[in-house]
Amino acid sequence: MAIERYDLSICIGCANCVNTCPCDVFRMSDDGKKSIIAYPYDCQVCNMCGAFCPTGSIMVTRDKGLKIPTNYR
Ligand code: SF4
Ligand code: SF4
Repeated sequence: MAIERYDLSICIGCANCVNTCPCDVFRMSDDGKKSIIAYPYDCQVCNMCGAFCPTGSIMVTRDKGLKIPTNYR
């Protein structure tokens, strides 16, 4: 999966990932203290969340980017 949690314990609940993701992948937990990767399959590997996360709690890999199907050769 392209978007993964590196370390939930260091998430400070700043909501930067929630607010910057153009694909609406994240939600905040009910207590508002952590973000949740709610819709990982919607990730389009733009790395906005990773760039704006101040703690490195999440990481974006190229996994999904390597599997883009296309009809063109
Ligand atoms: S890489 Fe982009 S699309 Fe994927 S979860 Fe992060 S902000 Fe959203
Ligand atoms: S940007 Fe990072 S620290 Fe802030 S809520 Fe998201 S995962 Fe947690």
